[in-house]
Amino acid sequence: MFSILRSIWLTLLHTFYRRFTVQYPEEKPKLPARYRGRIVLTRDPDGQERCVACNLCAAACPVDCIALEATEDEIGRRYPKFFRINFSRCIFCGYCEDACPTYAIQLTPDFELAEYERQNLVYEKEHLLIDGQGKYHGYNFYRVAGYTVGGKGKGEAQHEDPPIDIRDLNP
Ligand code: SF4
Ligand code: SF4
Repeated sequence: MFSILRSIWLTLLHTFYRRFTVQYPEEKPKLPARYRGRIVLTRDPDGQERCVACNLCAAACPVDCIALEATEDEIGRRYPKFFRINFSRCIFCGYCEDACPTYAIQLTPDFELAEYERQNLVYEKEHLLIDGQGKYHGYNFYRVAGYTVGGKGKGEAQHEDPPIDIRDLNP
């Protein structure tokens, strides 16, 4: 008898508590800016693709859900011919973003990726590449790394030092 009365009392008490139920999808949850959701490929401040198709993200991915193929344009700038992410395998660990030397690949707080067909979770480059710079504004990899000058080797361009032979750096 006591346990029944206690249950009724506790139930009554809960009618005055603040509700925790969120009316999703009408009411959107407030996620932190660093939440790891949908992955995008970004552009540099000049509007060019940041990805240089180095494959580091694919190598870092623990579930092998990134596939790409590298190619070059007429001035020798590398970019991915295709870039594919299988979100049905992705565990949103963020290792790909950590590995990327150009800030091209970035995770965003968008988590609404549910699909009825598993095949629809395979995103191609046209689904991944956005028009903006994402989280890292102003960074342009080629302004740091430079371009290859046609017909000249490393260190042969104007105002360029020859490469350092690290074996000569011994004391
Ligand atoms: S977030 Fe993790 S699992 Fe997903 S693509 Fe990047 S490295 Fe792979
Ligand atoms: S997204 Fe980044 S790490 Fe992946 S291939 Fe492109 S430049 Fe390399």
